[in-house]
Amino acid sequence: MGRRIENLHLFSARLQPDEVHRSLYSYPYQKYGFLGREDNLDDVLKYDAVQVQLLGITFDDIASKIEELFLSDESTFNGNPLVRKEYTHSPLCPWGDYCTVFPLDTSLKVTEIILFNGQREKEVNTFREAYPDLPVQVYRRLIDNDLAMVFSDLHPHLIRGHKFCEGFGTPYRVDPQRTVRYLGIPHTPLSFVNKVKLFAGIY
Ligand SMILES: [Zn+2]
Repeated sequence: MGRRIENLHLFSARLQPDEVHRSLYSYPYQKYGFLGREDNLDDVLKYDAVQVQLLGITFDDIASKIEELFLSDESTFNGNPLVRKEYTHSPLCPWGDYCTVFPLDTSLKVTEIILFNGQREKEVNTFREAYPDLPVQVYRRLIDNDLAMVFSDLHPHLIRGHKFCEGFGTPYRVDPQRTVRYLGIPHTPLSFVNKVKLFAGIY
C-alpha cells in the first residue's frame, strides 16, 4: 500500500464544494462519472447508509473486503471468477483528498477488478467470448444483467472515508447488497423489530 497517499493536493488546491460536485458527475479521460446524471449525492448517501444498516454491516466491512480482493492473487474470489485490469492511473478522489497512485508513477498496476457472477457461468462465458477485452463500454450491460461487479482500487477510500458507494447511474457503483453477495461479506440482517425502529428513526 506504499504507493497510496493521503491528503494529495498536487493536482489542485483543496476542492471547493462546487468543484467536488462537478467532479462527481464527470472526470477527465473517464467514460463514467462517480454519479449518473439522474443521481443526487445526498440521496445516494442516505440510501446506502440505510442499506448498510439493514444488512447489519459497516462501510468499513465493505472497504476491507475490497482491499482483500485487491491483495489476492487467486483467479477467483468467493467462488467468482475475476479479471484484473491494469492501468497507469486510477481517478483522484472527487473530494480531492486521496489518490491511489503517486502522480509520477507511470507503471502499469491493477486498478480495476471485474468480478463475475459465478452462479451464472454459462451467460458469463458467452459474454466473455463476445467481448474478450472487456472494454469499459460493456460494463453497463454486465452490471444491468447481474453478470459482474466492477471494483476500483479507489473504492475502499470512497467507502471508508466518505461512506460513498457511487451513484445508481454508474457501473462502478458498489451496491451494498450486491457487494455482500459477490464478495461473501459476513452479515446479519436487521431483525423485523429493528427494521421498524430504523425506519421510525429510533434505531
Ligand atoms: Zn476522499
